[in-house]
Amino acid sequence: MKCLKCSQDAVIIGQHGGLCKTHFITYFENKVIKTINKYKLISREDKVCIAASGGKDSMTAIYLVKKYFNLKKLNPQNLFVLTVDEGIKGYRDINIKNLEKFCKKHDVKLIKASFKKEFGTSIDKAHLKINNQKPCNICGTWRRYILNKESRKYKATKLVTGHNLDDEAQSTLMNIFKANNDLLARLGPISGTQDHKLFVQRIKPLYLCLEKETRLYTYLKNFPIIYSECPYSQTSYRSDMKTMLNNFEYQYPGTKQGIVKSLLALLPLLGQKKEVSSIKLCQICGEPANQPICKACKQIDNLK
Ligand code: SF4
Ligand SMILES: [Zn+2]
Ligand SMILES: [Zn+2]
Repeated sequence: MKCLKCSQDAVIIGQHGGLCKTHFITYFENKVIKTINKYKLISREDKVCIAASGGKDSMTAIYLVKKYFNLKKLNPQNLFVLTVDEGIKGYRDINIKNLEKFCKKHDVKLIKASFKKEFGTSIDKAHLKINNQKPCNICGTWRRYILNKESRKYKATKLVTGHNLDDEAQSTLMNIFKANNDLLARLGPISGTQDHKLFVQRIKPLYLCLEKETRLYTYLKNFPIIYSECPYSQTSYRSDMKTMLNNFEYQYPGTKQGIVKSLLALLPLLGQKKEVSSIKLCQICGEPANQPICKACKQIDNLK
């Protein structure tokens, strides 16, 4: 198939036709910049922290948020990258090495945190001790905990995550399937509990990008990335949802976009379910929590 806009061979075929390498890169970058503008994700005064794992989504987020900073002539001192080493040997260590090189090349400050430093253990070790929990449950909670705490420590006002349209479609259905209406109401391009001084607001510039588009973009841009998945990802509820949605998308193209479009229409009706006033401080660590003891501290306690 040929590109919609010129006579070159297409590198991707979307719902409306094909695009060549040059036109795809332009289309993709414009989409991210438009998302930042449309949802007012970044303002001139913001100090922006990019949460990065060293995978394709976070490398794309770093590259394009940096590009946005250059385009808008924002202060480069107000941009930094934060990574959390969960301790997954043969996977995260390689990603972090790639991330170090990438940040150096693009001149963005990198801050490193780890489960070992914060909780005294790694996912490789912790997962051997948990009988009925999947590693992703602990990993997700601990990572969110550290990202919020560390980004706040460095005075970030926005925390960029690499969530794409596939992630959002999966999260939407996962929350519906489990009747997690509070969590459903907290999705969207600006997510989480907003307007609370202990929470750094999370933003998702790749919100409207399909995973296959991000994958292709990083490949065409030759970013230093390993495309293999985390060895624990096969055991998660999310990975089952991902497989189901990919099969559905294959049969009925546009399914994922349809789910996210519906979510965006529903969000104003759902409102901000979690009242800011109901946020407490964890009695152990002092971080914000919904219960007297936060989830991260509870999980640490379970491991003992
Ligand atoms: S797949 Fe699960 S264990 Fe692996 S990094 Fe993601 S949340 Fe952590
Ligand atoms: Zn073209
Ligand atoms: Zn705690």
